[in-house]
Amino acid sequence: MEFDAVVVGSGPNGLAAGIEMARAGCSVCVFEARDTVGGGARSAELTLPGFTHDVCSAIHPLALASPFFNTLPLAKHGLEWIQPPAALAHPFDDGTAAVLELTIERTCATLGPDAHAYAKVFAPLVRNSVKLIPEILAPPAHLPRHPWALMRFGMKAVQSAQKFIDRHFKASHARGLFAGIAAHSNMPLDHRPTAAAGLLLGMLGHSGGWPMPKGGSQKLSDALAAHLTSLGGRIVTGTPITRLGQLPSARAILLDVTPQQLLQLSGEQFPPSYRWELHKYQYGPGVFKMDWALNSPIPWKADACRRAGTLHLGGSAEEIAAGEEAVAKGRCPERPYVLLAQQSLFDASRAPQGKHTAWAYCHVPRGSKVDMTERIESQIERFAPGFRDCVISRHTMTPLDFENYNPNYIGGDITGGIQNILQTVARPSLRISPYSTPVDNLFICSSSTPPAAGVHGMCGYYAARAALQRLGYNRHTRG
Ligand SMILES: Cc1cc2nc3c(=O)[nH]c(=O)nc-3n(C[C@H](O)[C@H](O)[C@H](O)COP(=O)(O)OP(=O)(O)OC[C@H]3O[C@@H](n4cnc5c(N)ncnc54)[C@H](O)[C@@H]3O)c2cc1C
Repeated sequence: MEFDAVVVGSGPNGLAAGIEMARAGCSVCVFEARDTVGGGARSAELTLPGFTHDVCSAIHPLALASPFFNTLPLAKHGLEWIQPPAALAHPFDDGTAAVLELTIERTCATLGPDAHAYAKVFAPLVRNSVKLIPEILAPPAHLPRHPWALMRFGMKAVQSAQKFIDRHFKASHARGLFAGIAAHSNMPLDHRPTAAAGLLLGMLGHSGGWPMPKGGSQKLSDALAAHLTSLGGRIVTGTPITRLGQLPSARAILLDVTPQQLLQLSGEQFPPSYRWELHKYQYGPGVFKMDWALNSPIPWKADACRRAGTLHLGGSAEEIAAGEEAVAKGRCPERPYVLLAQQSLFDASRAPQGKHTAWAYCHVPRGSKVDMTERIESQIERFAPGFRDCVISRHTMTPLDFENYNPNYIGGDITGGIQNILQTVARPSLRISPYSTPVDNLFICSSSTPPAAGVHGMCGYYAARAALQRLGYNRHTRG
């Protein structure tokens, strides 16, 4: 065999899988279709020279909390986290904002009559976060070390965000804040388990923050790639894999791809039942994304917005819910829920002196060709009048641009498949080890496996553990 392990795809999960195999002593080679590593964690000068934009992911509470990334010497390889003073601001039409601050107390100060209810929800989660994070970011079939903490979280998380909001919060600020966080799930808010995203990301906001890598998301990927190389791993870029026969011989092959590509690459080797499971795997809505080069910071009406790395623009919980429901029904909302990041306010390396960047996207139906530029910019203007006057240059990406950029984004779905209850448990299929396939040496390691979307590398880590077990390795031997 030429290698112990070959990995296809250098997204956060592909690199994590490669690192875990390499630190167990395996020889590893990673093949990446594009000319740079990183998958959904890359940066580029999308607008003008000197302006660094995050092409996909921008804000990294999951990477900071990742039990796997936390075992790696990424700082040694140049990764530096920047924590904005506040994780998130959610502005309203009256010029006020709900703010997800590092402390629960300061957050509560922005939530009026729901302050007590908010603290009652989040204080126990934050107290237990050290126990909870590794449990939540693990495959569903694992043996929990903290079953009670996990069960208490699970009972809340399994609800729809809508139900959760109605049960716990009565006023606009807490309702809007929770709805905006839960809408990261990219599903209608009356579907289960959308409360999970609200609870997990809210808890992470208080336990570690919502940071960004200094210099852009690419720095995280570069640090992972540098660590893999330091362990002896090889990375070959600019090489799309269209058939497994292209790969050198290996004892294990780990694919950082979604079920649709898994079928294309190796479907004929699978029994009909597994092929059927992969065929019926469901993808979610797409995204329309914009990046701007700006003359000045965004002129938010609410001062608190200037302290936050991330903004959720959509107003009330009801408005956000209506927008997400429209998307699920195949329509582009007139007033979309917009996720926005303003990295250059906290990281001067992102733009020339005195200039700024902004990053934003909204959900749209999968494969939508509708240009959302006007609607996204109108949502920003609504909370920051004069925004358009700050724009020097803009760059847009439709769902199909995303699929062309990275074949894992089927129709622009950035989550690797919808995260409903079925596809939380059976991701991508119902197997004891969802990372294994019916072909002995073939594994799937992308966000289409547990614990699903986000830059945390845990899918890759657990896929590598499954492969190592199959190859007869026990615990890792190198750091
Ligand atoms: C617009 C946008 C915003 C996002 N925002 C955030 C955020 O702020 N925070 C967050 O945590 N997450 C965010 N995400 C989600 C996050 O980027 C993904 O969940 C994560 O990157 C998934 O990692 P992965 O390794 O499974 O796959 P990917 O990152 O998609 O990587 C897959 C890699 O495999 C390569 N590849 C695929 N097929 C082949 C092939 N046949 N041959 C060779 N190479 C191949 C691709 O080129 C790609 O490099 C965002 C995503 C997008 C698109």
